Amino acid sequence: MILWVIIGILVISFLMDQVLGFLNLRNHKRELPEEFKDYLDAEKYAKSYDYHHTNYKFSQIKSWPGLVILLAILWGGGLGWLDGQLRAVTEHPVGLPLLFFWVIFFASDIFGIPFEWYHTFVIEEKFGFNKTTPKTFFIDKIKSWLLTIVLGGIVVGTLLLLIDKLGSGFWIWFWIFISLFSLFMNVFATTLILPIFNKLTPLENGDLRQAIESYAEKVSFPLTNIMVIDGSKRSAKSNAFFSGLGKQKKVVLYDTLIENHQQEELVAVLAHEVGHYKKKHIIQGLIISILQTGVMLFILSLFIQNESFSLALGGSVNAVHLNLIAFGLLYSPISTVLGIVMNIFSRKNEFEADRYAAETFAGEPLKEALIQLHADNLSNLTPHPWYVFMNYSHPPLIQRLKAISAIGNQELNPG
Ligand SMILES: [Zn+2]
Repeated sequence: MILWVIIGILVISFLMDQVLGFLNLRNHKRELPEEFKDYLDAEKYAKSYDYHHTNYKFSQIKSWPGLVILLAILWGGGLGWLDGQLRAVTEHPVGLPLLFFWVIFFASDIFGIPFEWYHTFVIEEKFGFNKTTPKTFFIDKIKSWLLTIVLGGIVVGTLLLLIDKLGSGFWIWFWIFISLFSLFMNVFATTLILPIFNKLTPLENGDLRQAIESYAEKVSFPLTNIMVIDGSKRSAKSNAFFSGLGKQKKVVLYDTLIENHQQEELVAVLAHEVGHYKKKHIIQGLIISILQTGVMLFILSLFIQNESFSLALGGSVNAVHLNLIAFGLLYSPISTVLGIVMNIFSRKNEFEADRYAAETFAGEPLKEALIQLHADNLSNLTPHPWYVFMNYSHPPLIQRLKAISAIGNQELNPG
């Protein structure tokens, strides 16, 4: 019964993704839409059309075998079988589950490598985005594996230890632990984790720094907290983001962004990111995710020793790791709903950050920057509204441009 529910959830969510992906693709017209004629040339638009169709086909080639393999493993009791095999190595209450999760992590990650390779060195290459070398690709892989072993080991190890010692009472202690852990990661991600993969440098002395200086002073955002990242090491796509809390707060601009944009536009992008900070989006997001985690852990505590979960996945005895996986799969519809809520929240924040930038700096260069950014990254300009509702953390370009224009108009016609 439990296995049927799990398979039902997987199949339904897969089909939902398929429908949304198809609608989204169909919404992407070959002709440059009327509302973008002022902003984009037809050639660039045609390229983005090709890019999205190629990526759609690629995601189909990847997702179908992925689903079939997953269903076959679940149906054939593959996870229970793996549990049985690993029990020959260790039956340690923390060691066995950790080993189990690592085996699954590595198996699925290695399964994904050919796809990642193809995406990077064929698709991204074809559209002129790829800057990664095979060497960087593999070094990244090894670094992210080590990071997963260490950080994943700390988090999952703590969870297993608490379950082993406290039974279903583990959840409140683990909640405290994971909250502090994610607070720590939020504060130090840019200082500790990011430099493992990228080089972060302070804003160089020069025209750009001068242009930013007066704005940064006006909104009292310290220049020392503005960094440049070597995104060009891997991709020609450009971006900017805000990260961190308190003294560790940082606005990070991609070197590719700096290369492709006018100074005014860069200040506008910076103003947008500062807006995320001033409007307290990071701390709000953190609080919401901590609350969500608490609810999830409480529900998990009701099922963690439920032997029927293990049996459903083909286990012969009660195993915490099998129960965790079954729970994760059963919980996925709830996390999908929560993800939608988070996306709604995030899109609202993007509008707020745009508004902040328009009010404290200027709307026009922000619009220019957004148009340029979407054009350079070949972003989808006409995503299907349902697809946006489910998956987009940022509003579609046209909505942002309209909202920014509306702010400008209000200023021109007060009252
Ligand atoms: Zn933003």
